[in-house]
Amino acid sequence: MKKIIITIDGYSSCGKSTLARQLAAELNYTFIDSGAMYRAITLYFLRNHVNWNNAATVASALKKISLEFVFNPAKGSSDMYMNGENVEVMIREMLISENVSAIAAIAEVRTFAVAQQQKMGVASGIVMDGRDIGTTVFPHAALKLFMTADIAVRVQRRYKELMLKNPGITIEEVKNNLEMRDYIDTNREISPLHKADDAIVIDNTDLTMEQQLKKALKLVHEKIK
Ligand code: C5P
Repeated sequence: MKKIIITIDGYSSCGKSTLARQLAAELNYTFIDSGAMYRAITLYFLRNHVNWNNAATVASALKKISLEFVFNPAKGSSDMYMNGENVEVMIREMLISENVSAIAAIAEVRTFAVAQQQKMGVASGIVMDGRDIGTTVFPHAALKLFMTADIAVRVQRRYKELMLKNPGITIEEVKNNLEMRDYIDTNREISPLHKADDAIVIDNTDLTMEQQLKKALKLVHEKIK
């Protein structure tokens, strides 16, 4: 069967990665979580006290970062490695979520990440989720999805997920973080988050995981038949 590139963009905590992972498993495609790359860069900047307001400092820091996705058979998807270290768990922490959108708005950071994402797409048979995948990374992708969900539902889903790791977290913190990231992501100068003209919207506020997968698979089969 013909292999295509599927892009999934949308707001924070809309279930993009969940759908991307489901689709990749069903279709035997590679799932790439582009947000993990921005999170890993953020971890590097924080750890190494990189002054990200200075373009030259950012450029020289990026030269020292090597990012790699390594398949984790136990999970059935890839873990993010930064300079040979598995950073998958660390990059999901709140401190990273609080800083990632500001760092992802920097021109040098985007050029660095997008170039690597585009190389991963050469093979096709990939599902990549993010904010600018259908608009900037793969503007010619065969299938573009744009996910959205009610903010209250998104906050609840994210809160449940984060609470397991950090029982002290509050709903307000989660809500503020989602709203702040959505604001920065949609208002930044370079590749702001918006729906590509040819993207299909999936609002999963009232959909179960099975229903959203069914809907997306139908769209995939329409494209590849
Ligand atoms: O997808 P995730 O929520 O892990 O992404 C973290 C952050 O990385 C987003 O809030 C956004 O600022 C940035 N990002 C981006 N472009 C992408 C993917 C993520 O700017 N393609």
